[in-house]
Amino acid sequence: MGTKHIPQRTCIACRTVRAKRDLVRIVRTDAHHVQADPTGKKAGRGAYLCRQRECWESILQTPGRLENALKLETALAAQDLAQLREFAATLPTRAQVQTTPTNTTK
Ligand SMILES: [Zn+2]
Repeated sequence: MGTKHIPQRTCIACRTVRAKRDLVRIVRTDAHHVQADPTGKKAGRGAYLCRQRECWESILQTPGRLENALKLETALAAQDLAQLREFAATLPTRAQVQTTPTNTTK
């Protein structure tokens, strides 16, 4: 049987388990800094979030959550937070994801 193993990860915001490629990685670049890692290839401790804006906003709105998930030693730097928010703004919202038509062009 061709049961391919698909790597799965859990979103740290909504706790949904998804295929890794449907999530976006955030990487801890050192003990005090994090950044979005859309390629998933950067070295360092990583955490995963859904590719949708709500999860990012939820995690960024609650101080300490991302720090806990990534075992940061200090609070998220304002600059890192700003960059993550900027990245989140490029993601589709949940409504956009759900209403994406599945090519039903009749
Ligand atoms: Zn999520």
